[in-house]
Amino acid sequence: MAGFKTHVTVSSTLGIGYAAAGYLAFEMPWPSCVLAGGLCGVAGMMPDLDSASGRPIRESTAFAAAVVPLLLIDRFQHIGLETESMVLAGALIYLLIRFGAGKLLKMYAVHRGMFHSIPAALIAGMLGFMICGCTDIDARMFKGGAVFAGYMSHLMLDEIYSIDWSRGVPRLKKSFGTAIKMWGRSLSANLATYAKLFALLFIMTGDVTLLGGFDAEDHSHAQHAAHEDGQASKSDEDASDGRIRRIADRLLGRLRD
Ligand SMILES: [Zn+2]
Repeated sequence: MAGFKTHVTVSSTLGIGYAAAGYLAFEMPWPSCVLAGGLCGVAGMMPDLDSASGRPIRESTAFAAAVVPLLLIDRFQHIGLETESMVLAGALIYLLIRFGAGKLLKMYAVHRGMFHSIPAALIAGMLGFMICGCTDIDARMFKGGAVFAGYMSHLMLDEIYSIDWSRGVPRLKKSFGTAIKMWGRSLSANLATYAKLFALLFIMTGDVTLLGGFDAEDHSHAQHAAHEDGQASKSDEDASDGRIRRIADRLLGRLRD
């Protein structure tokens, strides 16, 4: 089994490559690249949150507690929270993650259970996508992808370490195949993992159609229109009015269904 340091070194190196690729090849803004690289580095310790050793839990929960509220600021603004409410919500989330998440993880996690699996990596990526609540879908995909990549780097490294080369010939250890897997031995853990995966998928598609996708599209149209007739503030206002109306219509439509 690869140790904590090896995992973090590999995922951080991957994160640097990911950030550079985002900046150079996909023309992502550099703050997004730096953030994505950092997320990738941290995601490399996430699967071992299920181990009782404590260090990954301590490090990741402290990091997540600090970073998640910052990532949510966009989202808070989107739902129209006042500055004071944002600070309050941020502080609450910090405390919940810092002191609640670790305890919860210790209660439920089984080492090399479903935390070490492909659906768990997908869940982590989707959470990254959901938390980064900006309107730009590409930027969200980029960050979610970074979490997924970091998480997968951990699983791959675990599998590589479960091959024993000490006698010159490769010999598979008992742990081989327990990191990159689609399901584990416990039926209830499998069901819980896939239930979370599908629930997140459902929430994510709703989230994108309701806020992200249309919003981003409207905004670019609005900007385009503004450039065309030179009435920037007017058309921006109209667009945001239309946007709110459309979101309200959509919500009402859902309720009626
Ligand atoms: Zn591991």
